Amino acid sequence: MAEFDLIDLIRARCAVERNDVRLGIGDDAAILAPPPGHDLVVSTDTLVEGVHFPASTSARDLGWKALAVNLSDLAAMGATPAWALLALTLPNADRAFVVDFADGFAELAAHHRVALVGGDTTSGRLSVTVVVHGFVPPDRALRRDGARVGDQVFVTGTIGDAAGGLACLERRQPHLLEIPVEVRDALVMRLERPTPRLAAGAVLRDSATACLDVSDGLLADLGHIAARSGVGIELVADCLPTSSALLAAFDENERLVLQAAGGDDYELAFTAPLDRATAIERDLARIGCGATRIGTVVPGNGVRLLDAGGGEIALARRGWNHFA
Ligand code: ADP
Ligand code: MG
Repeated sequence: MAEFDLIDLIRARCAVERNDVRLGIGDDAAILAPPPGHDLVVSTDTLVEGVHFPASTSARDLGWKALAVNLSDLAAMGATPAWALLALTLPNADRAFVVDFADGFAELAAHHRVALVGGDTTSGRLSVTVVVHGFVPPDRALRRDGARVGDQVFVTGTIGDAAGGLACLERRQPHLLEIPVEVRDALVMRLERPTPRLAAGAVLRDSATACLDVSDGLLADLGHIAARSGVGIELVADCLPTSSALLAAFDENERLVLQAAGGDDYELAFTAPLDRATAIERDLARIGCGATRIGTVVPGNGVRLLDAGGGEIALARRGWNHFA
């Protein structure tokens, strides 16, 4: 297939109509009309085969995940998504691959009414870059620099599942070959089909003091909030929210490493004053999103993980760093 046939295929399968798209795919650039009086929030993320996803990932899951990890960044800012660009590097012009990829991408795009307005198609090692655009009311975006001493630290959903799924795919421990298939599938699903927490981000715009999405590992990511806000963070290991699948597949020590240092969950970690905690938990429950209090913002710097007695737990690994 030629490049332009592939582009036509992608366009046909990702057809979300929006009246703020003056001109979409097909010209040298898209023409877009942001809503007057709103801030434009923009982000990009790349997925490279063998680095961000295993070669075994299906084209459909990859299409979903490439958009999901980008929408997750908008969720972390409290933004409502609108438009996306897709730069696709493919080893060959494989029609079946592109159809499945576009269908996975389109499934999530349709759910959040995201219009694909352009991109680029090249040949090379499989790599996917997506750019997303969204809006927030002026000066209302959630940032990393607003945490204050005394705030509580929360995380949505459960964490460690995606890293557990990766451990299963890599058969990292012999006992992982024995775990029930439904447990394995539940964990792998969290890795390959992450859910961007867009509704939660929108709710938190009114109440969180700082927020980010957990992509590199909870400790590493919360370290960004601590650094940008000029505070320390103490987390209580026993409070980390754990899925029944993770409980079934890993012992306590393995679990703690997956939850504290494993990435790819795309949950939101955020801080908020103690007196807003109950309202936040109620508002998130209303949109079907659990949130758990996992720690406290303290004076100082860095992120410490504490055991039940208040002693610090030392972990060998705190998160992903591509150049470490
Ligand atoms: P140019 O050479 O002027 O940069 P291209 O030939 O690369 O334009 O692209 C033609 C049109 O197709 C443009 O509107 C571009 O945004 C769009 N496009 C190219 N690749 C993709 C893709 N993978 N997904 C979505 N749109 C794409
Ligand atoms: Mg051009």
